[in-house]
Amino acid sequence: MSTPREIFLRALYRQPTPRPATGSATSVVTADLMDAVGVAFPEAHLRAQAMADLAAAGHTVLGFDNVMPLYSVWHESAALGCPVNWGDRTHMPDSRGGIYAIHDEIDIPADLLDRPSCRVALDAIALLAQRFAGEVAVVGKVFGPWTLGYHLFGVQEFLIHTLLDPDAVRRAIDTLKEVSVLFGRAQIEAGADALCYADHATRDLCSPEAYRTFLQDVHAEMVERLPCPLILHICGDTSDRIGYIRETGMACFHVDSKVPTRRARELAGDRLALMGGTSNIDVILHGSEEDVRRDVAEKIACGIDVIGPECAVPLDAPYRTMQWLTEAVHASA
Ligand SMILES: [Zn+2]
Repeated sequence: MSTPREIFLRALYRQPTPRPATGSATSVVTADLMDAVGVAFPEAHLRAQAMADLAAAGHTVLGFDNVMPLYSVWHESAALGCPVNWGDRTHMPDSRGGIYAIHDEIDIPADLLDRPSCRVALDAIALLAQRFAGEVAVVGKVFGPWTLGYHLFGVQEFLIHTLLDPDAVRRAIDTLKEVSVLFGRAQIEAGADALCYADHATRDLCSPEAYRTFLQDVHAEMVERLPCPLILHICGDTSDRIGYIRETGMACFHVDSKVPTRRARELAGDRLALMGGTSNIDVILHGSEEDVRRDVAEKIACGIDVIGPECAVPLDAPYRTMQWLTEAVHASA
């Protein structure tokens, strides 16, 4: 009998598994899941035990093969100085960001990993690794330099300089990629089996040429420097860059439902694993049990390796739909 962890990790490398894996590299928390566990936001962003307890429900309540405790996009950015409002049970954390201009020297504090917003995630990963003791895959999460650029410089300041001063953007990316390496390695040491590497090079804000120019080599470098399987997460319609992504050596791509599933598999080729693709709105938020079953059957037929939501689940979704998803995948074996 394979453990959920084995199934999940083998699926990330497209190796044979007794059934498709289930799970997600991004948040699966809903308000009703917080009620079921008795732990809510913002405590689950701020206290390691609360963070780990809520993440554990990804397996114990939803039945997924992995757990992932970093629910927001702000942990390392907060440690870098962005003032973050950690929200509440119906609002994800947010920040205005934009604390640097593009030519400023970015200060990576020597105690980055010990600042509260990084430390909480590292401690939660250690608690989850201890609790599941190799039975369930523990997935961490770091952000790439494109997302960190939006956060630290502000979206407009960062994007306009990709045109006005690409060298300044390249210098910023070179500095910020070290944050992903530091935080990612610390998460692996704490017990993460794999990492979500999220970098919001979304089509409306980053052309395929910009992806190639600024990010493709950085993403390939991360594969070399972070010693665990990486799951690249980019929202939106990425069909114009999946061909570039498959050349980076990333183990897996977490794909949005805006890319038709069959098309995603064609573009990804035989080697790049695919996760997700299930619509958060049509299936996770509004789907009937029959809708969920039909979606799972389509994902399996198209060769999705880890079946689950496309991106962070809406907080007002019912978690029951994710239980149906797990049941449908298990019934397929
Ligand atoms: Zn996303």
